[in-house]
Amino acid sequence: MADTYLDLVSSGPGGRLARQLGLPAPARLRRHRAGDPLVPGPVLVLGRGEEADRIAAALLGWDLDVRRHPDDVHRFGAVVLALTGLARPADLAEPALGLGGVLRSLAPGGRVVTVSRPAPGIGTGAASATPAAAEPLDPAVAAARQAVVGFLRSAAQEMRGGATANGVLLAEGVAPEAPSALGALRFLLSGRSAFVSGQFVTVGDDAGALPADWEAPLRGKVAAVTGAARGIGAQIARTLTGAGARVVVVDVPGAGEPLAALANEIHAVALQLDVTDAHAGERILGLARERFGHLDVVVHNAGITRDKLLANMDETRWASVLAVNLESQLRMNEQLLAGEGLGEAPRIVSLASTSGVAGNRGQTNYAASKAGVIGMVAATAPLLARRGGSINAVAPGFIETEMTARIPAARRQVARRLNSLQQGGLPEDVAEAVLFLASDAAGGVNGQTLRVCGQNLVGA
Ligand code: NAD
Repeated sequence: MADTYLDLVSSGPGGRLARQLGLPAPARLRRHRAGDPLVPGPVLVLGRGEEADRIAAALLGWDLDVRRHPDDVHRFGAVVLALTGLARPADLAEPALGLGGVLRSLAPGGRVVTVSRPAPGIGTGAASATPAAAEPLDPAVAAARQAVVGFLRSAAQEMRGGATANGVLLAEGVAPEAPSALGALRFLLSGRSAFVSGQFVTVGDDAGALPADWEAPLRGKVAAVTGAARGIGAQIARTLTGAGARVVVVDVPGAGEPLAALANEIHAVALQLDVTDAHAGERILGLARERFGHLDVVVHNAGITRDKLLANMDETRWASVLAVNLESQLRMNEQLLAGEGLGEAPRIVSLASTSGVAGNRGQTNYAASKAGVIGMVAATAPLLARRGGSINAVAPGFIETEMTARIPAARRQVARRLNSLQQGGLPEDVAEAVLFLASDAAGGVNGQTLRVCGQNLVGA
């Protein structure tokens, strides 16, 4: 599973050779490590207006070295473009070209984040929870707002040195200081979003709250993670535990041994259970309440692939993938939401896939299941909002796990490079996105799908 090419080009001579030959030169990504600074240098805030000043003030509140002008700064850790006040496309020129002027001074692992407002009725690619505007928007305003999306996505493809570019979209009426506006901004600036690039997080309302301790946003919460015996699920369980949650880890009886080992390692409660069981949701809820008194977070991570070209697809392959990846989640959600069993502000996070966004050859069954997850999450959002909670999906691209280790070697090498960061992500990259969406700092984010794919250029 090791990416030997990344190891090679990360060495000085290997990197120079790759550049001379015009080969991809992926950089080591800046990932979150407790104690590291939020960003690797001063933060430049570009953009005019009162809301831009308030965004700069919020960043100062995190003890960052905030600048409003590029003077004399050799290396910026991040550039934030405060664009909530755009009235015409021409208003984008100054901040966009301002970013261009400092891009060469962005530190390795640096961050670009736009903060803007959505053009209602237009999705951002993944299932967008952009609420319909009460009144039609001035076409010039809508054009300016949507221009930010194209601009940011293209800028993300031009980042170097493992830097990323993402955006926060604040729905009409949501202030830049709303909990999830700041929660999303902080996530995108931090090393926790290392493999997220070219993406937008839409903040739909003022729900949510910021944690007292950013290293322990799930303190006091109880979480359940399915498919936790290995791979991404095991890492999600570790990351949620590290963030202060007590965790129930779930996997099939056949994975009982690694599941028990993980439970020992992180002091979790293990539950051997097939998620396609007719009572899976009730059993998870029952055990969590019995052991911990409540259940606040459910992560639907269990998933399988049974790839075949459609012409060779059989009923078993089709049905098993749909049953594990989608129907189990639907049924469990019905059971979880049926009574008052879940805690206050319940959060559900489902694993989708970029295959469910863009499609993928040989994966009609898998892509159908994962696209179904994206639809389910968008439609379930209002049910969670009524309880003060949220449901979102994370769509990983190519992640280094046993699932992707099964891809034939040559195809795997190519698949890894087909994103703006030119490498596969790690399970921790997905786990960090799940943690963000499971935390109250993302309480105003609901019904969305966040891609963790290094800005995959094709379906993966
Ligand atoms: P994996 O195959 O390494 O692990 C999946 C885990 O789910 C295993 O422990 C397995 O035993 C468990 N599981 C399978 N069926 C189950 C069932 N019926 N009940 C309970 N547990 C069950 O996979 P992974 O790569 O860690 O993927 C985790 C999730 O992320 C999946 O939903 C997958 O579709 C999604 N995903 C992965 C990638 C990737 O590149 N690895 C990309 C996109 C999406």
